[in-house]
Amino acid sequence: TDLSLIRNFSIIAHIDHGKSTLADRLIQATGGLTDREMSEQVLDNMDIEKERGITIKAQTVRLNYTAKDGKTYELNLMDTPGHVDFAYEVSRSLAACEGALLVVDAAQGVEAQTLANVYQSIEHDHEIVPVINKIDLPAAEPEKVKLEIEEIIGLDASEAVLTSAKSGIGIVEVLEAVVAKIPPPTGDRDRPLKAMLVDSWYDPYLGVVILVRVIDGVLKKGLEVKFMQGGTQHLVDRVGCFTPKRTDLPDIGPGEIGFITAQIKEVEQARVGDTITTVKNGATEALKGYKEVQPVVFCGLFPVDAADFEKLRESIGKLRLNDASFTYEAESSAALGFGFRAGFLGLLHLEIIQERLTREYDLDLITTAPSVVYRIQLSKSRTDPAAEILLHNPADYPDPNRIDRIDEPWIRAVIYTPDEYLGSILKLCQDRRGVQIDLTYVGGRAQVTYELPLNEVVFDFYDRLKSISRGYASFDYEQIGLREGDLVKMSILVNNEPVDALSMIVHRDVAEARGRGMCERLKDLIPRHLFKVPIQAAIGGKVIARETIAALRKDVTAKCYGGDISRKKKLLDKQKKGKAKMREYGNVSIPQEAFIAALRMG
Ligand code: GDP
Ligand code: MG
Repeated sequence: TDLSLIRNFSIIAHIDHGKSTLADRLIQATGGLTDREMSEQVLDNMDIEKERGITIKAQTVRLNYTAKDGKTYELNLMDTPGHVDFAYEVSRSLAACEGALLVVDAAQGVEAQTLANVYQSIEHDHEIVPVINKIDLPAAEPEKVKLEIEEIIGLDASEAVLTSAKSGIGIVEVLEAVVAKIPPPTGDRDRPLKAMLVDSWYDPYLGVVILVRVIDGVLKKGLEVKFMQGGTQHLVDRVGCFTPKRTDLPDIGPGEIGFITAQIKEVEQARVGDTITTVKNGATEALKGYKEVQPVVFCGLFPVDAADFEKLRESIGKLRLNDASFTYEAESSAALGFGFRAGFLGLLHLEIIQERLTREYDLDLITTAPSVVYRIQLSKSRTDPAAEILLHNPADYPDPNRIDRIDEPWIRAVIYTPDEYLGSILKLCQDRRGVQIDLTYVGGRAQVTYELPLNEVVFDFYDRLKSISRGYASFDYEQIGLREGDLVKMSILVNNEPVDALSMIVHRDVAEARGRGMCERLKDLIPRHLFKVPIQAAIGGKVIARETIAALRKDVTAKCYGGDISRKKKLLDKQKKGKAKMREYGNVSIPQEAFIAALRMG
């Protein structure tokens, strides 16, 4: 294809501003699918994505659009993941494009995530076309939003396209703006092949499918290629694009986006950001910006029913086929038996995997307290030399006497909120050991920048932020490295037995408050037993908080007065069923929900 007829672009937007709806409209308008095929949103295809309204895996479609100038253009539209956990994938998708549509909700205006994405887009030298969507809403204020885009982002919004993706208004105008404003790619067909691996996923029929953006050279079937970072070699056996239907192509030339398959069995071998070149006469230098993604949040996953362990192993293995960014290894705990320690890109990523295991594989799971990775300097002991360890699991916390120093990961967060919630948000950040970096006001809204320890954010920071601000505040973050902290391990003892799954690393200053909160919540979450059950939080041997669950009256069924047999039976059945979702600790039963619920910081 003539380079001047190609346009590669992505759509950036805050969640719910209409990215997927607009993408679907663009596909529909260019005839990629029939109306019937359009009945469901095409670009978000996983259930969880739909429910949460976020995109987890990037999808790309090629549209052929005959513009008003009479020429037919090849438009490659790249959907980007919509959550901070997947920031690196987003960066690679953006690197594959020359421009972006910036979709802003005409009633909501610019929000934190809009900003974070737009800055990334600017960093990639994108030409940005503002699109003000949802102009059909009675509360739409497109002129005000234009001003916001100019004031807050500094983009000229005078020619912003006004759309209602829902009712199909302004769609042709968007396509014309893409053709007129976004620059065509550059590249050289005759140079050695250089293609960026933008994304990869597992397809049961094709094996691993790789999304590529060709920079120079040509990718075609039968070519022997190598992955410069991964170091592996493969034979390309299929080349094509999505329209969004999978369509085979003779080749993918410079400036184009498409997919290849090469009989690869595991996504791990196809790492996002890698450079693909030919084995013979290939490029000598890899593309910039490659990064190996590392999980940042870890937790234990255990089957409620120990007999499900093999099923869990199989299911995790299957999920992992499609997601190289989560890691797992077998773990055993005295109390929970056999399970896995798994690592994730963030809390949302953790929740997605957990939800998929529960929903798609029908497993009841206990998830232990999520933990970030700490770096610990150990001094020399009589038997061991000085060492530096990375701690993923509070259960592996070393002998405190040997700890010289602990470093924890920090993030920089940008929160964007209407004025009225600012006070409570500042307090929340302060309570979570945040350090305020910046606070500015733009038209009745505040933008606050905080540095926060990641471990204070992984639990329920986001939920709290949303509830404090009635959903209006938005939040985005990036990691900024490790910092020293006065951190200790807090253990929880139920009936004098430590419960590993509930132990956590906390800052000394907040340990007592957290401990008290945990004990209070556990008191409500653990049912009464026939004996008194003490619940304690302790650091080392020192108890810092305690609660006691009073003993149960001898016979629950006594209140049925012996008369109503069926009612009595029902009650017993209910107890039995309740039991299935509990874990026995010594002789105390702890319900499954207690593990995560107890961690909510309140
Ligand atoms: P995304 O999270 O940015 O992908 O947003 P979606 O495309 O999933 O849209 C979020 C919600 O806004 C959905 O309920 C859409 O139906 C709705 N929506 C999208 N575009 C419009 C629009 O132009 N007008 C109105 N009224 N609603 C819209
Ligand atoms: Mg979407």
